Amino acid sequence: MKVRTRVAPSPTGDPHVGTAYVALVNYAFAKRHGGDFLLRVEDTDRARSTPESERAILKSLQWLGIEWDEGPDKGGPHGPYRQSERAAIYREHVERLLADGHAFRCFCTSARLDDLRVAQRAAGQPSRYDGLCRGLSADDVASRMAAGEPFVVRLVVPSEGVCVVRDARRGPIEIAWSDVDMQVLMKSDGLPTYHLANVVDDHLMEITHVIRGEEWVSSAPKHLLLYSYFGWTPPEIAHLPLLRNPDKSKLSKRKNPTSILFYERMGYLPEALLNFLALLAAGPVGGEEVFSLADFVDHFSLDRISLGGPVFDVPKLDWLNGRYLRERLDGNAFAARVGAWGFSPERVARIAALAQPRIERLSDVGNLLAFFFAGRLTYDSALLVAGKIDAPTVRKALAVMQRELDTLRSWESAGIDALFRRVAAAIDIKVRDLTRPFYVAITGSSTSVPLYDAMEILGRDIVRERLRHALELLGAPSKREQEEWKNVGSASAEIPA
Ligand code: GLU
Repeated sequence: MKVRTRVAPSPTGDPHVGTAYVALVNYAFAKRHGGDFLLRVEDTDRARSTPESERAILKSLQWLGIEWDEGPDKGGPHGPYRQSERAAIYREHVERLLADGHAFRCFCTSARLDDLRVAQRAAGQPSRYDGLCRGLSADDVASRMAAGEPFVVRLVVPSEGVCVVRDARRGPIEIAWSDVDMQVLMKSDGLPTYHLANVVDDHLMEITHVIRGEEWVSSAPKHLLLYSYFGWTPPEIAHLPLLRNPDKSKLSKRKNPTSILFYERMGYLPEALLNFLALLAAGPVGGEEVFSLADFVDHFSLDRISLGGPVFDVPKLDWLNGRYLRERLDGNAFAARVGAWGFSPERVARIAALAQPRIERLSDVGNLLAFFFAGRLTYDSALLVAGKIDAPTVRKALAVMQRELDTLRSWESAGIDALFRRVAAAIDIKVRDLTRPFYVAITGSSTSVPLYDAMEILGRDIVRERLRHALELLGAPSKREQEEWKNVGSASAEIPA
């Protein structure tokens, strides 16, 4: 049997370092065994999935040097590799589950489900579906469908006993069926949820080993149940420990940049970042911390996966990257990397265009544009609060903008401009006064080239990091403040706070 593994990202945001970490392990496992590694796009969440995110994820993994044998961009014998193009396959499988009594239609309204949740919470019970619609007769179901009532399809789950998940790295994990919810498999729009699509695809794509993040452990019983309902042999399953912030909490962009694009923009070399992720997954190779992808693959086995929560330790990444820069590139190669990183003709043209109306000598570009070629900026924090708005309002503005910028679907100056206007109105200050501390945080100076264009060119990730740094200098928002500012300036907030 040929080993086949996959990475199955959902294109709902920036390309996450966690996706690369899971992809790397799956790649190494497949290649170690002479198998295939494939990439499947799990875009069943139509509201949150975007083609830009898909493109960015694929590009980032390619940048890192992780290659797949089959995928949406490459095709292959098991396509399509994008779940939104496989709706008919899932519908057919849902029909099969319904016909065999392994799934049922549920007509409960969201109001009823909300009430149920509230009542369960009040009684200190976990929130889960109570099975009301499982008792509907075939006639009831037929007449409600004929009347056009919307419904979802849910999984039938045993009411007693224990499911044993045999994790290839951790051994057996027991989960009581009473802890497993009657999962929605198909939504009222006829699209599948992750669980159904994932199982059907892993089977049809002949995946032999599913290696995924440990946040999916509690879903494994639902998946195993689906395999048994369909009469299929489940793949081997292993769960990787989650990457962590230095404080051991789950890696999150609030505390640590998580986007691969951030690390690319900061000037980390793809081979250094990949080496770092490999170290997090399985430790040194032959006692060495610096090793190539080929070495990693040659020595890879699932027992080498460290189960303690690996800490995404940026100083360690810095050290590793420094070694690659100094030791692994000759002068020409290094110069080529510097050029490709920050001085491509296209980037230079965009940046130069911002400087042209504002300088008297070409040598002025050094001071004016240095922030485009920097990581973290150094400036006097007093500058952040030297404008017309007081320090508490500056903090609020930074926190609100940081949150709202993350909600922008596309990152371009017109949308950023509109957002600044909305937030200025919401906190009742002039746009000009609002932007001043942002000039400082993002360009290091209170006067510079146009802010929104600069933000567009710098990219979302560098901007997020600079705002986070500015907030750190002024004091990060407390829980209470976050709560208080929750709706300020958001698109849905009607009343300015
Ligand atoms: N689409 C899921 C994710 O984004 C895939 C999880 C899995 O590997 O099954 O994490």
